[in-house]
Amino acid sequence: MANSFHSSDIPYKIYLSEDELPQAWYNVRADMKTKPAPILNPATHQPCTFEELSHVFCDELVKQELDNDTAYIPIPQPILDFYRMYRPSPLIRAYFLEKELDTPAKIYYKFEGNNTSGSHKLNSAVAQAYYAKQQGLDGVTTETGAGQWGTALSMACSFFNLACHVYMVKCSYEQKPHRREVMRTFGAEVTPSPSDTTEAGRRILQAHPGTTGSLGCAISEAVEKAITTPNTRYVLGSVLSLVSLHQSIIGLETQAACKKYGIKPDIIIGCAGGGSNLSGLIAPFMGEQLRGEAKYRFIAVEPASCPSFTRGKYAYDFCDTGHVCPLAKMYTLGSDFIPSANHAGGLRYHGMSSILSELYAEGQMEAVAVEQTSVFAAARQFARVEGNLPAPESSHAIRVAIDEALKCKKTGEAKTIIFGLTGTGFFDMTAYKNFNDGTMTDYIPTDAELQRSFDLLPKF
Ligand SMILES: *Cc1c(COP(=O)(O)O)cnc(C)c1O
Repeated sequence: MANSFHSSDIPYKIYLSEDELPQAWYNVRADMKTKPAPILNPATHQPCTFEELSHVFCDELVKQELDNDTAYIPIPQPILDFYRMYRPSPLIRAYFLEKELDTPAKIYYKFEGNNTSGSHKLNSAVAQAYYAKQQGLDGVTTETGAGQWGTALSMACSFFNLACHVYMVKCSYEQKPHRREVMRTFGAEVTPSPSDTTEAGRRILQAHPGTTGSLGCAISEAVEKAITTPNTRYVLGSVLSLVSLHQSIIGLETQAACKKYGIKPDIIIGCAGGGSNLSGLIAPFMGEQLRGEAKYRFIAVEPASCPSFTRGKYAYDFCDTGHVCPLAKMYTLGSDFIPSANHAGGLRYHGMSSILSELYAEGQMEAVAVEQTSVFAAARQFARVEGNLPAPESSHAIRVAIDEALKCKKTGEAKTIIFGLTGTGFFDMTAYKNFNDGTMTDYIPTDAELQRSFDLLPKF
């Protein structure tokens, strides 16, 4: 490209060819000296067995969840075939953002919003639907918050011809009718949660009449529905180690693109809700660090209104509000914690991936919490120069990428920064409207508020 405004040899978009698509997922647990703590049966407090978990989850997925040792797990051909429709995803050099910030830093983002579901969640949805089909199941149930996971799963289920029942957090169901219609178009049944279709939902409705729901509550409903419907299992789109495994495709492609073009990242940044995109993006790089081959700064970015890493406790907790799920050791705000009503930026889950939790506890990665108005300011700045409307969740990573690039401007260091741009913001225009109207506010929970939900952490 002659007369480009930049002199570098690195193209704006780095696409790998289909032949370069990774053929196996990478399981970072294989390189961890201290493995993530096992998930426990809430009744016995003993590690969950394959037997127990396979009542709720698909067999092959339980095997992946319990596998701390196999470093590379081959991706079955039908999943690779589906991946080929939208992968490899591009790694993009943010030349225009660099210019706007007047920074010597080199900024790249791995864009996962280039598929109809609009986020990275499709990477695991396709895998989970495939294994459900392999097992001969009729269908799966799940929960969805903002709607990205439900959308991804409904696409995957329609591809593999499985029934899909989605419990959608009620406030999102009402605020995002278009998400609901995408899911229904792909054949999913969508129920606002809490609902009167489950025991767990009825209990929560009774205790909190008028509640607009939470992810933890929708999980309880979806699990109950799976257990009480013949030949059906529950699937989860984040938090679990099996999901991190599938999302390693993001990091493996990023690593391959970096090798191909001689790019050496100094800082790798991702937003953290339940930890799936971040754990996937950093996995192979973290593997290098754990094996002593390289050193990186990994930064998890979370909302100040739901600060699991930066203000949470590293403890065993319930994964859901209804307490029907196993206990996981993770950074948590307590399963009763619900972010304040003004919170529009996503990433509202109370807990965090047990893999990332262990790595954070060991000091292998950092975390920062940012307020949503500063997140949307970063989103707008990025959108205007890069021509890409980011999801609010992804914009947490943009905020910190910009902050790190501005630090480079002060010090004159030309650091290489990679961040995960996990999705598109097209379904989040209500939140953007609040920001554009100047009515968006920030809310940081007080220590006393957090203590109230810490007090309810299981004790044993
Ligand atoms: C779900 C979602 C996230 C957060 O989930 P993680 O499991 O932490 O990755 C981030 N970005 C987008 C676009 C999402 O849909």
